[in-house]
Amino acid sequence: MGLLDFHGNFARRTVTCRHCGWTGHGAEMKNGESFGNGIDKHCPACSERYGFVQWSVAVADNPPADWKSNIGRVEF
Ligand SMILES: [Zn+2]
Repeated sequence: MGLLDFHGNFARRTVTCRHCGWTGHGAEMKNGESFGNGIDKHCPACSERYGFVQWSVAVADNPPADWKSNIGRVEF
């Protein structure tokens, strides 16, 4: 699957899992494997991979209330 969205918009968007029908906000989805410029998102109900979300600098400037900062050390 290609790029879903930039993370700031995705977190506030209502998404539906095509596998089990779960519906919720993008921010509720579980984080999967992280890459250099984004992260995989998985359904919190059935753990099916939903897609890939690219980090956006705009998120840090105006995050939603439930946004958790992901800024930190990078481990190699
Ligand atoms: Zn699901």
